[in-house]
Amino acid sequence: MNKRAIIITISALFIAIIVYYSPITSANTEKVTIIGEIVNVREQPGTTYSIVTQIHKGETYSLVDSENGWYKIKLPSNQTGWIAGWLAEGPTKSETLSEPFMATVQTNSLNVRSQPDPTSERIGVLNEGDQVKITGEQNGWSQIEYESEIAWVSSDYISKVDAVTTASSQTNQISILYDGTNIRKKPALKSQIVTQVSSGETFSVLEKNGDWYKIEYASGKTGFVASWIVAATTSQTDKLQFKHKPGAKMVVIDPGHGGRDQGATGSNGTLEKNLTLEIGNLLAHKLDKAGFNVVLTRSTDEYISLESRTEQANVEQADAFISLHYDSIDNQQVEGHTSYYYNEQDRILAETIHNNITEAVQLRDRGVRFGDYYVLRENTRPSILLELGYLSNPQEEQTVKSKTFREQTANAIVDGIKEYFEN
Ligand SMILES: [Zn+2]
Repeated sequence: MNKRAIIITISALFIAIIVYYSPITSANTEKVTIIGEIVNVREQPGTTYSIVTQIHKGETYSLVDSENGWYKIKLPSNQTGWIAGWLAEGPTKSETLSEPFMATVQTNSLNVRSQPDPTSERIGVLNEGDQVKITGEQNGWSQIEYESEIAWVSSDYISKVDAVTTASSQTNQISILYDGTNIRKKPALKSQIVTQVSSGETFSVLEKNGDWYKIEYASGKTGFVASWIVAATTSQTDKLQFKHKPGAKMVVIDPGHGGRDQGATGSNGTLEKNLTLEIGNLLAHKLDKAGFNVVLTRSTDEYISLESRTEQANVEQADAFISLHYDSIDNQQVEGHTSYYYNEQDRILAETIHNNITEAVQLRDRGVRFGDYYVLRENTRPSILLELGYLSNPQEEQTVKSKTFREQTANAIVDGIKEYFEN
């Protein structure tokens, strides 16, 4: 007999046995469907018990009993055995997340395994910055989709991506959320990385391929970026949004300038509007991660009026409004960072954040000053404006456009905000 004949014969026998032995109530029998690739069936509910047999993804079995996350199932032989509940989709989906989420890998050479068990088969490796869809969690393991298969990685080395993006088939532009985002040759995590792009960069979408966007990252050069790690916009006004956290302080981040308003131009051509957007998006993510409610007045390269900026602070009932800028003056020698407030009661907010920045970066401290800026003057909420260095100074321009400076400054602002609300 060939394999198929054997299977058919066994199946026929199995059906005959079921028909013969089944009590009338069997119509109500609950079923479980196997979702692990190869699942061990054990004598008792626990990984230490001996293996009776192995069953496979997609197969369905009758559920006899359940205990501590394990299912007792009936095998074709009419024997019973126990399987780990997280490897089956059953009548109770306790281990399946109601809503999958995206996460970023935090380490290199993260093993991808077939089961939530360090001794299970290693089916691949992920690296820092790779992004994965998390579909379930179990005992410190995260269930992921890996090359269209279900796989597992240790939850210790991934971090959730909280941004809610508005991806749709009409998406025509994307903005990069993370520095070092991988652009790949093909729409797959295993595909070769052709380049990396930085937070705040925007690209036109050439086409959508599954969960991937095809973009032109350099003149004539195309690649793919995972849709779940970018902010997708269908129009110029779509914005990066963060989950609302009840009771948390609201911080409105205002990246200065944008769109047709380029702000200052550095001595080597750096545009202020791009720097403010980069650090604004980064700061927003860090604040979100630190537990604050965050709203950005803009998260793409778009023009926004000063009225709209202050209006957003008022509408959102901001506990702090922080406008981000870079300075420029007709003198290449001038350097340093300055922090401004308009209302006297906001001086403490300006000072707290300013001092944290001074400690964190190598910029000359130009102090905290009164500043008659529209976004401060017309603001009914606590508000400050930060000038994070001079683009007109060639050396400082190099400094402030570096990733290190951006990271350090964003961290310092988060620390300052925390300190301000703690006191
Ligand atoms: Zn400015």
